[in-house]
Amino acid sequence: MEHKNQSPWLYQMSSAREGKGLTENVQTDVAIIGGGIAGVATAYFTLTCTKKSVVLLEMGRIAHGATGHNGGFLATYFERSFISLVKEFGLTLAAQGQRDVESAWELLESMRATAQLKTPVWIFTGYAAIATEEELLIHLQNLALRTQAGLEVAPLLVAEDAPAVERIPHAYQGMYKLVTGSELANLLEVKDSAYFAALPEKKGCTNSAALCEELVQYMLNTYPERFTLLEHTPVEEMQLGAEGVMVRSGDYTVQSRRVVLCTNGFENVRIVNAVGPDINKKFHHMVRGIVGYMAGYVEPSQHPPVEISFLPKSPRKGDDVYAEEPYFYVTRRPFGETEGKPQSLVSIGGPEALMDDTNDYKVDHDYPVRAKEDIDSFLRATYAKAHPEGETYKFLWHGLMGFTPNGVRLVGPEPLNPVLLYNLGCNGIGLMPSIFGGRKIARFLEEEVLPTSMFDPVDQRTPIARPTVPLRVVQDRSVNAASPDNRA
Ligand SMILES: Cc1cc2nc3c(=O)[nH]c(=O)nc-3n(C[C@H](O)[C@H](O)[C@H](O)COP(=O)(O)OP(=O)(O)OC[C@H]3O[C@@H](n4cnc5c(N)ncnc54)[C@H](O)[C@@H]3O)c2cc1C
Repeated sequence: MEHKNQSPWLYQMSSAREGKGLTENVQTDVAIIGGGIAGVATAYFTLTCTKKSVVLLEMGRIAHGATGHNGGFLATYFERSFISLVKEFGLTLAAQGQRDVESAWELLESMRATAQLKTPVWIFTGYAAIATEEELLIHLQNLALRTQAGLEVAPLLVAEDAPAVERIPHAYQGMYKLVTGSELANLLEVKDSAYFAALPEKKGCTNSAALCEELVQYMLNTYPERFTLLEHTPVEEMQLGAEGVMVRSGDYTVQSRRVVLCTNGFENVRIVNAVGPDINKKFHHMVRGIVGYMAGYVEPSQHPPVEISFLPKSPRKGDDVYAEEPYFYVTRRPFGETEGKPQSLVSIGGPEALMDDTNDYKVDHDYPVRAKEDIDSFLRATYAKAHPEGETYKFLWHGLMGFTPNGVRLVGPEPLNPVLLYNLGCNGIGLMPSIFGGRKIARFLEEEVLPTSMFDPVDQRTPIARPTVPLRVVQDRSVNAASPDNRA
């Protein structure tokens, strides 16, 4: 049986707005392309932190891309180990990059307070569950490096009876705390004794689609003179000059001083650089797509909100924490009421498929049966609080994520023509980095001179090797919705 792509976030979101398109030529200070969380956050900070006018162009409707089809949990870690970031950028830049992303917690709070958002955000301690000694040592090394860099750390929790305990090098004392096996199993909500350690981290969850919709409504109400929202407006071409850009959709254009690409990397926009080397080809080599598959069921509320990632049980193939094995993650949060009784939504993600040509991805592709089966077997084997066997998933959904070659987001001006800026490349965890990116773009738009950062787009002309970091994808598990072979 085939399943439709149905996301709980879009299911919960309501919008009475009809959505207007581009029906005449317009002028603005800043054109933002893409109305997911990156574009919405960029518009928000540009409006609140500068005096510039903004036109936000979205080819469909606000937050109906990855933002409406994601896992919905908030985190500020990278899908790469801190060790590997330090190897690539050095300790100072890597630590600053980590702090930058963590600044999104405060930015999110300030947005919620300023715009008086009603969409709930739950913040809690979540966990990464560890099942191999190799993974344990890497996380301990990460913590040691983070401590050296002056970043906040919470000690790892290790089961006192785990054989690995006696082999932990003395140098990592203070980086971990022993707990009983049953304490650990309770925290991780597992029935699988393979997991013997846990990394606690600040995490949260929200409905990012509803959050974006509310923010957009706030901007429309608060900045009617400076903010224009254009939906159903696919941008086809950008012509970059020395002083400005012409953005074209259909028969009309937006003439702007700067343009910010917040398209997650998949936009079908032709970029013409009238004052320098070709950017079009470079850009289209810069991001590749991965389709992520999620499943969710609703149950009477019995437990508080949480997010737990279950790191792979097999040895890693690459030199990074997030090896090529996929890992599953479970998020639980309140989800309305049924007959006056509070309900929770439990969402599970993990299966992914690499897409060489992201044009093959369509949001209305059926959800592959294989992905649901993978999620179900994971739940049965691992998760102690799984819903009874044979019960259905109310939601099955997929979405496209943009990965940059090194797994690090791009935030800043294009070196070949700074009229163009980027806030894109979600690399798996993109909600909080998009918010940080939005604030930083507003600073660039104010012509602030900002120190070098690991998020700076660099002048890597063709060919760009990709990916340099192992992605958490198993390519031969082609649960690719585009492939008819995977339809049951
Ligand atoms: C299954 C899945 C699970 C995920 N889980 C998590 C998670 O739990 N936590 C987390 O932090 N991140 C998660 N992510 C990543 C997160 O969803 C993304 O980082 C984030 O939503 C990306 O936001 P965005 O604004 O960059 O992209 P999008 O939300 O995709 O927005 C880009 C927008 O650009 C528009 N666009 C594209 N081309 C054009 C054009 N030519 N003209 C006009 N508009 C255009 C698109 O229509 C789209 O609306 C997940 C992603 C997926 C798919």
